[in-house]
Amino acid sequence: MSETSVVEAVGKDLFIAGKWVPATGGRTFGVEDPSTGRILCEVADASPEDGMAALDAAVAAQREWAATAPRQRSEILRRAFELLTARNEDLALLMTLEMGKPLAEARGEIAYAAEFFRWFAEEAVRIDGGYEVAPNGNGRFVITRQPVGPTLLITPWNFPMAMGGRKIGPAIAAGCTMVVKPAEQTPLSMLALAAILAEAGLPDGVLNVLTTTDPGGVMEPLIRDGRARKLSFTGSTSVGRRLLEQCADKVLRTSMELGGNAPFLVFADADLDAAIDGAMQAKMRNIGEACTAANRFYVQRGVAEEFARRLAERMSALPVGRGTEPGVVVGPLIDGDAVEKVSTLVRDATDRGATVLTGGSTVDGPGHFYQATVLTGVPADARMAGEEIFGPVAPIAVFDTEEEAVAAANDTEYGLVSYVYTNDLKRAIRVSENLEAGMIGLNQGIVSNPAAPFGGVKQSGLGREGGRVGIEEFLETKYIAVAL
Ligand code: NAP
Repeated sequence: MSETSVVEAVGKDLFIAGKWVPATGGRTFGVEDPSTGRILCEVADASPEDGMAALDAAVAAQREWAATAPRQRSEILRRAFELLTARNEDLALLMTLEMGKPLAEARGEIAYAAEFFRWFAEEAVRIDGGYEVAPNGNGRFVITRQPVGPTLLITPWNFPMAMGGRKIGPAIAAGCTMVVKPAEQTPLSMLALAAILAEAGLPDGVLNVLTTTDPGGVMEPLIRDGRARKLSFTGSTSVGRRLLEQCADKVLRTSMELGGNAPFLVFADADLDAAIDGAMQAKMRNIGEACTAANRFYVQRGVAEEFARRLAERMSALPVGRGTEPGVVVGPLIDGDAVEKVSTLVRDATDRGATVLTGGSTVDGPGHFYQATVLTGVPADARMAGEEIFGPVAPIAVFDTEEEAVAAANDTEYGLVSYVYTNDLKRAIRVSENLEAGMIGLNQGIVSNPAAPFGGVKQSGLGREGGRVGIEEFLETKYIAVAL
């Protein structure tokens, strides 16, 4: 389909109780193409009353949905996988238009999102329980798993389809109903996903989608209402903290996938070709706008100069432009504020003595572009050593000893992912165990995999998504004490 047709094909209203309904008062807001600054379309702008209607629908559907056969839930998930796969091209174009990432990456994200539906189709029929003899021999324990109940799901703009799939897949598998709030800047992919899930046979009211410019005003009453039993959030640590406080009121279960500040360690014994390839992936996936993005490179002295030179060569050769253009690797950042933040962090680092090897400037508009950038000599007190850059900037610092590298890597409130390049097996294990992170990329620059447990420690989050444990986040354990 053409750009205009993929946008036209998406429902622009709220999706509540299986119906597309306009927001109260017919209010709408515009969705921008970050590569041109043009408004693609208008979508419904939900009010708190619309939010409550969505929660009512999720609550009303919960009992019947929880009682469906696991096989039925599994087959809905499987059909969603097949529909997403068959429509990859159009969905990828839609995502590139609203978010900016190059088409090749958008296709990859649709495939990644689809895999969550396939994975959880397989998990839905494997929810286990237990039967145990009480230690005193007089009783029996029947252990069973039940859906948590209605859930609230909030997703960010940087992976508009995959972050939703990672929550919706296990929620469906477990038998939970849900109210989903996608990011204001990228609502279209979620609206398209809602239509696909309805087509796949998801009963009315199981999934409800709210698009809004008032996330706090709409979601806080739903969190404080008490009928939703869980909040699963992906986004920044600052918003996550606020939501945890709100959840405390009614003691909601929570899953929190929050910010990162990933260190990327290269030891002198590493395969440098592989380290450069991994660095390009870990830094440039999603134009650097990923929670898993390598935010700080620490390279051992003997290879630091060569690593920086070769990384700068690769980065400076990357084509910048609109994500729909063939061959483009560096698309636009999400908005003008993102460009301003990256510019400020680069200026701060150079003011403190860092050197620009390549890039270091914005690119003329329209759209919100920043050059792929490599900085060396970035001091530990530079702001970018402590904050998510969320852009195509690779800051490099040099280390001498393993202890120094691990200490620098761990010197952050975050703990999502760390990358380590070394060919020494003992060092690989030792460093992986000593790094404070939920995930380690050992000689690889990408860790995301629907079959693996994704998540962070420290202030990067609570809980895991994907893998065998992904469904656990949506299940409660009930134990039935049987008297004999
Ligand atoms: P964000 O500003 O925290 O927003 C995330 C979501 O929360 C959006 O849907 C947003 O709505 C909503 N939101 C904002 N304020 C809210 C409130 N008071 N109550 C309820 N919802 C609220 O994060 P972002 O800028 O979209 O995404 C980037 C961040 O996400 C980065 O920190 C990144 O590291 C993190 N992230 C983490 C993971 C992970 O798996 N750990 C994955 C991807 C991204 P609006 O769009 O309307 O503001």
